[in-house]
Amino acid sequence: MTISYDPPRLKSARGLTQMAPEGIQLKPTDGATQPSMIQAHVSLAGLTSFRVGGPAQWYAAPQSEAELLTSLAWAKSKSLPVTVIGAGSNLLISDEGLPGLAIGTRNLRNIEYDDRMAQVSVGAGVSLAYLARQVARRGWSGLEWAIGIPGTVGGAVVMNAGAHKSCIADILMDIEVISGNGINQTLINTDLEYRYRSSILQGSNYTVTQARFQLKPTNDPQTIIATTNTHLHQRHATQPYHLPSCGSVFRNPEPQKAAQLIEKTGLKGHKIGDAQVSELHANFILNCGHAKASDIYQLICYVQDRVARQWSIQLKPEVKILGTFNP
Ligand SMILES: Cc1cc2nc3c(=O)[nH]c(=O)nc-3n(C[C@H](O)[C@H](O)[C@H](O)COP(=O)(O)OP(=O)(O)OC[C@H]3O[C@@H](n4cnc5c(N)ncnc54)[C@H](O)[C@@H]3O)c2cc1C
Repeated sequence: MTISYDPPRLKSARGLTQMAPEGIQLKPTDGATQPSMIQAHVSLAGLTSFRVGGPAQWYAAPQSEAELLTSLAWAKSKSLPVTVIGAGSNLLISDEGLPGLAIGTRNLRNIEYDDRMAQVSVGAGVSLAYLARQVARRGWSGLEWAIGIPGTVGGAVVMNAGAHKSCIADILMDIEVISGNGINQTLINTDLEYRYRSSILQGSNYTVTQARFQLKPTNDPQTIIATTNTHLHQRHATQPYHLPSCGSVFRNPEPQKAAQLIEKTGLKGHKIGDAQVSELHANFILNCGHAKASDIYQLICYVQDRVARQWSIQLKPEVKILGTFNP
């Protein structure tokens, strides 16, 4: 599918202002420093850690909240579905691509430290691993576990990303979101109904723009940095970081571990096309070079089917599967 015309350059969201209910303030959009161009037919493969997926019908990477509002307003005016993409490290996007507007958040990268309170306010597009390094250098504890997670802050907030028995819900204070109608809202931690790799943000029409975290100050940055480095080394030793993947494909069906079930089913190394169940960590599926999204999808279904037959357990994907796939 190729779209043969260009959308307008967008500078204001006046229509959006009219949609806002009384009493809700939309931030002005005219102050955008670099108005974003919404592009047609942009390949998404390079924007996901699996390195697969077709084009977005439309794509925007806003540089500011104002540009984000403008993009959302345009999608709304065209009745287009919106998909938010952080670092794409938990996404399997169909080879056919995505209809509507895909919004990449990577340019929303402001960071503000409150040294007195040991709090940090971060734009949704900031890399979680970068943030983990920065707070460790300040001697703030609380994000040592996050170093090996290749996502953005926004994606981590939505997914309740976690590792080493810690997760985002442990440190998140509040977030700023924009709804599909362009309404700004602050949501606090308890609004988000956090559970294991889950929050009410998943499947909602909220775009997270900002998150505020409470860390624990110490006078010992060296120890925090050392713990952070240890976590990174452990992960590199036990997980396949050398080939494209989305990390763990399936949620753990507690108290069982998905990786152990897949391994005990004899599926390590199983391949469909160029997609392979990792030999190192059975809950990872790797793109060995030229995998298509459909290969990965079929392998996910195959693993689910084999595990269900052998153990009567239905594995649920943690990875977000977007677009159309044939069974
Ligand atoms: C090698 C590897 C190791 C990993 N290890 C871990 C791990 O230890 N623990 C863990 O929890 N995860 C892990 N992951 C998975 C992934 O990194 C996390 O789920 C991460 O939090 C996803 O962030 P992202 O920015 O890439 O989100 P994306 O993959 O881009 O998106 C994930 C979901 O969040 C939504 N989203 C993203 N940003 C926003 C936003 N600003 N507003 C609204 N919705 C948004 C998307 O629409 C999508 O539904 C790993 C992945 C890889 C490749």
